[in-house]
Amino acid sequence: PRTDGAAERVTPMMAQFIEIKTANPGSLLFYRMGDFYELFFEDAEIASRALGIVLTKRGKHLGEDIPMCGVPVERAEEYLNKLIACGHRVSVCEQTENPAEAKKRGPKSVVRRDVVRLVTPGTLTEDALLDARRDNALAAVARVRGSEGEDGYLYALAWADISTGGFRVAETDAVRLAADLARIEPAELLLADAVYEEPLLRPIWRTLPAVTPLPKESFDGASAERRLAGFFQVATVDAFGSFTRAELAAAAAIVAYIERTQLGARPPLGRPQRESAADAMVIDPATRTNLEILRTTTGERTGTLCAAVDRTVTAAGARLLARRLAEPLTDPVRIAARLDGVEHLVEESGLRTGLRERLAGVPDLARALSRVALARSGPRDLAAIGRGLSEGGAIAELIGASPAPAELANAARALVGVDPALALTLGAALADELPLNRRDGGFTRAGYSAELDATRAMRDESRRVVAALERRYAEETGVKSLKIRHNAVLGYFVEVSQQNADKLREPPFDAIFVHRQTMAGAMRFTSTELAELEAKIASAGERALALEQGIFDTLAAAVLVEADAIRACAEALAVIDVAAGFARLAVDEGHVRPEVDGGLDFSITGGRHPVVEQALRRDGGPFVANDCELSPPDNARSGRIWLVTGPNMAGKSTFLRQNALIAILAQAGAFVPARAARIGVVDRLFSRVGAADDLARGRSTFMVEMVETAAILNQATERSLVILDEIGRGTATFDGLSIAWASLENLHEVNRCRGLFATHFHELTALSQRLTRLVNATVKVKEWEGDVIFLHEVVPGAADRSYGIQVAKLAGLPPAVVARARAVLTELENADRAAPTQRILDDLPLFAALNRAPAADAAPAAKADPAAQAVKTALEGIDPDEMTPREALEALYRLKAAA
Ligand code: ADP
Repeated sequence: PRTDGAAERVTPMMAQFIEIKTANPGSLLFYRMGDFYELFFEDAEIASRALGIVLTKRGKHLGEDIPMCGVPVERAEEYLNKLIACGHRVSVCEQTENPAEAKKRGPKSVVRRDVVRLVTPGTLTEDALLDARRDNALAAVARVRGSEGEDGYLYALAWADISTGGFRVAETDAVRLAADLARIEPAELLLADAVYEEPLLRPIWRTLPAVTPLPKESFDGASAERRLAGFFQVATVDAFGSFTRAELAAAAAIVAYIERTQLGARPPLGRPQRESAADAMVIDPATRTNLEILRTTTGERTGTLCAAVDRTVTAAGARLLARRLAEPLTDPVRIAARLDGVEHLVEESGLRTGLRERLAGVPDLARALSRVALARSGPRDLAAIGRGLSEGGAIAELIGASPAPAELANAARALVGVDPALALTLGAALADELPLNRRDGGFTRAGYSAELDATRAMRDESRRVVAALERRYAEETGVKSLKIRHNAVLGYFVEVSQQNADKLREPPFDAIFVHRQTMAGAMRFTSTELAELEAKIASAGERALALEQGIFDTLAAAVLVEADAIRACAEALAVIDVAAGFARLAVDEGHVRPEVDGGLDFSITGGRHPVVEQALRRDGGPFVANDCELSPPDNARSGRIWLVTGPNMAGKSTFLRQNALIAILAQAGAFVPARAARIGVVDRLFSRVGAADDLARGRSTFMVEMVETAAILNQATERSLVILDEIGRGTATFDGLSIAWASLENLHEVNRCRGLFATHFHELTALSQRLTRLVNATVKVKEWEGDVIFLHEVVPGAADRSYGIQVAKLAGLPPAVVARARAVLTELENADRAAPTQRILDDLPLFAALNRAPAADAAPAAKADPAAQAVKTALEGIDPDEMTPREALEALYRLKAAA
C-alpha cells in the first residue's frame, strides 16, 4: 500500500495496519480483528488465490477499494499450513489489549496490535502444521574467508528443529554441501545474500523447498559468539566445545533467526552438538533419490526403505528412524552398540512386547515441550508431558528388570532423569478431560487447589441460587412460564411473554422488576437481586479463570525447569522405540544381525530386497535370495566389483539396490534381510541409474548421467560401495560402451572400490580376463518354448544373450513385429560382433591414456599447430563460470571438432 503524504486521510486502523505491514516485509500479514485474521491489499489477493477463499473489499484507501479476505481464528492453523506449504511466510498480528481498554484512551482509539510471531516453514511447532514422523529442520549455511578450502572459503552448516530442540553444527565444503543438505532435508535454509547469489551453488538452492537469504550481518563472525552465549544465557560458548568460525557463524544465524521469528520466546534448544563429516556414511542426493530411502522418486513415503522397515509406534521414534536411515554410522563400535540393543530385544520377546505396548501410549514429549517453552501450549501439552514422564518411568523399570546392553541401559537412565515430582504434580493438577485452549479454563482437577475449588463452588452455588430465584419469582408473580436467562448484552434477566408482562409492571411487582427490553412476543426485566447475583457469579467466574491461568503458568514453569531432562527423556524413548521396532522387524521379516567391522569385506549370503520382498509377499510371489561377495580376494587388498549382465526384467536393478540397502540398514544399526552379512564399513555410497529422465531440471539425461558418473569417479574410495546400473545406456552404442568400459577400468584400478555394475553391454564381460577383481555374474533365465522365464537367481558367469525379443513379446508387442525382429536379429548375429571387442582387448594397453605423463614438448608443438591455435583462441572466448553444464558440453564438442 502507498503511504506517501496521505497518512492523515487514512483511517486510524489503516494507519496502524500500514505501520505494522511496513515493519514486517516479506511476509503475509494476518491482522487480528475479533474472531478473524484479516488480510489486506496484495496479501489478500495472494491469500485468496492460495487458499481459495473469497476476496472482498473493505473501505477505501487513497480513493481505491481495499481488497480484503479473512480466515476465522479457530481455523487459522489449517490456512497457515496451506500458505506455508506454498512457500509463504506469515506474520501473525494479535490484539494486545481488549477493545474496552482502547476506548478508555479515547473514542477513536484503535485497539493496540503487535506481531507476536513470524511463521516460516523452518520454525513451526504446531502438530497441525508438522509431519509427526519427520524432523522439521531450520538450517543455515555460513561461509567465511579462510586459507583452506578449494575456493578460499570455509563452509559450515548448522541446523535446528525448534519443535524438538535438536541443534547440530558441522563443517562442510562447496562439494559436500549438496550431500549434507540432502541428508538434513531442511524445511527452510538460511544463507547470506552473497552465498545465495553464488552461481556455482545456485543449483543446490533450487532443490530446496524454502530458502531465506539474509543480510550478511546475520552471519557476522565477530558477534556470533556473543549472540550464541546470549541465547543460551551463558558467559561464553567455550563450554559447548570448540567450533570453527564458520560453525559459530552458522549457529549464530540460526539463533538470531529464531529470536526474530519467535519475537523473544525461546524454544528449548539443546546446546549445539558438533558433528564430524567422518561420522556418517556420505550419500549424495542422486543416490538418496535413486535408492528411495525416505522418499520415492515421486516423493511418497509408501514404497521407501523407511516405510518398509518402520515398526516404530511413536512419532518421535519414526523421526529418529528416518534420521538414522538418512545418516548411517561409520564407526563399527557405535554400530555394534545399536545392534546390541536390537539383539537384546530380538531375544527377549516378552520385554519387546511389553515395551512396545507401553510406548504406544507415549505422547510426543519433545514437541509438547517446545510449545510450552514458546508459550504456545495448551492443557493437553502439559498433560502429554506428565503422561510421557510417567510412562517413561514404567518403561525404565521394564528395561531395568534384567541386565540390558548399554544402548538400552543408558536410555533407561535418561528416562528417570526428570524429577519424579513433576509427573505427579501434572497428574494431580490436570483434569481427565481437557479443553484444547488454556484461555477458557476448566482444565484443573477438582481437589488440586483449595482456593480454586472454593471459587468454583461460589460460582456454581450462585448458579443454583439463580435457579432458586427463578422458581421464587414464578411463584410470587404467579407467572409459571417466567424464566431467568442470560446473554452477553443484558447479562442475567427475567423474561416473560407479552401477555404476562403487565403483571410485572403493576404493583407490587413494579417495585421489583425494571423493564429493559421488549421483544416480539416477550418482555425482559432485571431486578436488584438478580444484578447482585450476576456480579457475584461474574466475579467468581473471573476469579476462577484467573486462578487457573496462574496454575497453568506455574505448571509450565515447573516443566521448563526440567526442560533439558525432559528432552533427554524424549530422545531416550525414541531410541528405545527404534530398537524395539528394529527387533520386531527382524523377527517378522527374518532379518539377521550383520557383522560390521573396519575391514573391506562385503559378503552377503542370501540377501533380499526389503521393499520388493514385502511387495511380492502381498502379490503372492516368493522373493529369490541372492549372495553377493565383494570382499577382497585372498591375495588382494581391495574389494571386488561384480559385473552383472542379464536380460531386462531379470532382477539386476533389484539385486544391485538390495545390497546398497543392506549396507545402509547395517550401518544404521538394524538387522538386515539376509541369511548372513559381513560388511566392512562403507564410507560413501553411490548409486546411479543410466539415463534417468531429469527433464524437470532441464538437463539432457545423458549429461546428467555423465555429471554423476564423473562425481563417482572423482570421489569413490577403497571403502566406498558403488552401484552403477546401465551406465552409458543414454547414448549411441559405441559411445556408451566405451564410456562404460573406461569407467569400469577406472573404478577397478584407480578408485579400487567395492562395486556392482549392471550392464547390457555384453562386451564388458571380457574385461574380467584382465581386471583381476572383476567378477562376472548374471541373472539366470530359462527359455521355454520361445518364451523366457525369470529365475531371479544371480549366478557366476556372463549372460549368453539378452532375450530382448522374448521380453518384448512378454510386454505384448504385436506378433508380426516380434517375428520380424527375430529375423533381423539373426541377420545381425551373423555379422562378427566379437571382433571389435577382441581388438580392443588385444591392442589398447590398459590405462595407456590415463597413466601417461604429458610429453615434455607438448607446449611448443601446440604453438606450431594451427588447429591447436584455433582451439586456444576458442578457449579464450569461454568463461566456464557463465556456462550451464549443457553449454559446456556443447563447447567441448566444438573444441573437439576444431582440434
Ligand atoms: P532388471 O533391472 O534386470 O530389468 P528388475 O530388478 O527391475 O530387473 O526386476 C524386475 C522385476 O522382477 C521386479 O519388479 C521384481 O518384481 C522381480 N524381481 C527382481 N528380483 C527378484 C527376486 N530376487 N526375486 C523375485 N522377484 C524378483
